[in-house]
Amino acid sequence: MAQDSTEGSLKERGVRLTRQRQILLELIDRTGAHLDVDQLYRMAKERDPKINRVTVYRTLKMLKAGGLVDELDLMHYGGDQHYYETRLKQEHAHVVCLRCGRVEEFFGEPLQRLRKQIENHFGFQILVARTEVGGYCAHCQTLRAREIETVRQEPRSVAKPPAGGTRARRAHARPE
Ligand SMILES: [Zn+2]
Ligand SMILES: [Zn+2]
Repeated sequence: MAQDSTEGSLKERGVRLTRQRQILLELIDRTGAHLDVDQLYRMAKERDPKINRVTVYRTLKMLKAGGLVDELDLMHYGGDQHYYETRLKQEHAHVVCLRCGRVEEFFGEPLQRLRKQIENHFGFQILVARTEVGGYCAHCQTLRAREIETVRQEPRSVAKPPAGGTRARRAHARPE
């Protein structure tokens, strides 16, 4: 159903959906994930070995311009990498862990409220909204706390160059 509306929307714009374009659109829509160009290229190649990178780039550009796909940088966690995700999902915020790169999606009524407030305040018509939050996930908070603790207990080990890999690791596990 969602697929029909996407294709319909493309047809209205006079965009022809070739088989390869369709493969890419389906991958983005169905996985519902945040995929980078390499991931998309690899997945698409499994379905059609003849697909090439240029087609992937061109199709993404087209889908983005058509408002069918959203391009994200996810707090630049992966450097200059961009990620693509379907616009069929309800608006959500991306919660990115800057340590492990885990991405959570927050769907919540406050986002719709914020959108309304901004529109009312500026008399603005919002077409696209992107909310990104960066920080540390629960797991990484625990790991970081442990790391900081280790550094505190061994202030010298930070300045010293690693003499022997095994020794350094033992010292890490068992502070003297
Ligand atoms: Zn994390
Ligand atoms: Zn998302």
